[in-house]
Amino acid sequence: MTTCIDILVGSAEDIAKAAAEHTDSEAYIEPLTQVVQQLGGCLEDELPLDVMPLREAGADDALIGRLLRAAETEAIELFRASSNGKVFAGNVLHLRACIRKSLPPAVLNLETVSLYHNLVDNMAQTAHPDSQRLYDFLAGILHNIRDLVFVHDAAGNILYINDAGLAVVKYTREDLMQGLSIYDVVVSKYIDLVEERMTAPGGGNLSPFTIEVYSKDGERIPMEIDTRILTNHAGSTDVIVGISRDLRLERRFQTEIRRTNCYVETLLGISPHGVIIADADGSIRDANAIAAGLCGAPSVNALIGLGLCDLGERADASSRDLLERVVDARRDFRACVTFRTRFGKKLHCDVIAAPLELDDGSLDGVVMLLVDIAEQKSMQRELLQQEKMSALGEIVMRAAHELNNPLAGILGYAELLHQAVEKRSHKDKLERIIDEANRCRRIGENLLAFAKRGDRERLPCDINVLIQQAYGLFEYALNVDRIAVTLDLAPDLPQVHCDSQDVQRVFLNVINNAHQALLEVEPDRRRLTITSRTDRSSVQIVFADTGPGMDEETCAKVFQPFFTTRDVGEGIGLGLSVAYAMITNHGGAIEVESEPGRGATFTISLPIRA
Ligand code: ADP
Repeated sequence: MTTCIDILVGSAEDIAKAAAEHTDSEAYIEPLTQVVQQLGGCLEDELPLDVMPLREAGADDALIGRLLRAAETEAIELFRASSNGKVFAGNVLHLRACIRKSLPPAVLNLETVSLYHNLVDNMAQTAHPDSQRLYDFLAGILHNIRDLVFVHDAAGNILYINDAGLAVVKYTREDLMQGLSIYDVVVSKYIDLVEERMTAPGGGNLSPFTIEVYSKDGERIPMEIDTRILTNHAGSTDVIVGISRDLRLERRFQTEIRRTNCYVETLLGISPHGVIIADADGSIRDANAIAAGLCGAPSVNALIGLGLCDLGERADASSRDLLERVVDARRDFRACVTFRTRFGKKLHCDVIAAPLELDDGSLDGVVMLLVDIAEQKSMQRELLQQEKMSALGEIVMRAAHELNNPLAGILGYAELLHQAVEKRSHKDKLERIIDEANRCRRIGENLLAFAKRGDRERLPCDINVLIQQAYGLFEYALNVDRIAVTLDLAPDLPQVHCDSQDVQRVFLNVINNAHQALLEVEPDRRRLTITSRTDRSSVQIVFADTGPGMDEETCAKVFQPFFTTRDVGEGIGLGLSVAYAMITNHGGAIEVESEPGRGATFTISLPIRA
């Protein structure tokens, strides 16, 4: 008890102030402080408080009762803040016992009191048998009903609480008989609301309201309450009848639901993978931003409500088929999927799905994890490519150097002979040799360029100028072949530190490939768009054509040396591998995105600082 007494002694003035405020009797702060100051001692000696200071200040019995009860609830809240569990409950009971002893007797209408107290004890005996039957009927209901039923008079004296109600607030029938008030029970901040209802016009037949009440040992219990004022013959308030519902369980459920929602939202938010949750009929209930991004949806909301099976492009029966299997799966499902979504994005990922089964075995829905493997695949490809490139680079460099010397010899002697011979047919043959040897030398140069490791000086360059120069070299040929070219160049592009010759050569290669590819489609569909843009750390150059495109397998190989789909003599398959070597030498990246029938897009990105 020491701590609780300490609290009371140290906070007597605060308790008195708050209690006076709650009862709108600020004029009594001082005498109430004097009374509350005795609380500690009275608790120890189990004596009643001396309420004389209040009486001398002019307070009547009713007000003294209100002030003491208000002080009691203030003290309970102080105890709650500084003790817990059993200690708290013990302190509250002790305090209540002390205050009870100090309360002036309530002024009661004895007839009314005995009527309701009879109901408490189920003792009513009425002269008329029909009245007795009705009484028994009412008592039966009140004893068995699970909601709380209470009756109090206009001054707040509680005359009746049914058994269920007593169990909730933990008071006994004896407590009730000895006198309880709504001011013992209602938490101070709701008192005004309760008083308002006690005087409400029209019998207080208003909508239910929610308050908190104290149990005997200080627990705060949320309750939904309905009250009705019963009037006497003279038309004034006789009693207030109330029926109320304990909201603890409902609140606990609500908290559980909120907590579960919070878990789900947090998990959706932090998941590194796309998550989609669908109902049993397949309609999407929830998803995270990553799932929306993977599907190309503008927002998560664009996914919600959609059927899982409608995620794929309308024409794509295989995706519909697969997603139907996900919905139908009564067990875990795992598959690697590739399809174009209805938002136009190609989805390439591992799908891991699990059914959401309720306790009774019914299917509530399905949760689906989308693990993006496109990035992982492209990283693997890139690593492999880099390894191959560096090994090949060494071999190629040596071979090209070795070939260069004999080739220079062949060319030198062929030119000498060409000058020396007179006969036309000999000269023709020698010119063939010189041409072919020159071709070999160019191939050698290409090979050396491919193997070269940045040995030329890199200077700040305007990428837009390099694009225009490369395009300028092709402009005529592209025009002749009726290819519509659009240059969409960002005006504020920062300069890039690079070897302008290398970069231009890359652009020439890519434009040349697009040119070749576009010849395979109808002239009115031939379009090439070259775009430049920046994100302030790098510059990106995008070459998008409307040619025949490539399948996945070809896309995976285009940067490999000597990979070509062109006829013998038309291509040697070094253009893009040289481009790859040059761009990665600059710390940049070159990527391709294509699908058969959908053109090809090559994106080159170069860091602004090398
Ligand atoms: P080459 O042009 O000598 O074949 P590249 O390395 O430049 O060598 O290209 C390799 C292959 O990539 C080409 O043979 C072609 O199959 C494919 N390719 C490159 N660009 C495109 C494009 N824009 N459209 C379709 N296929 C392309």
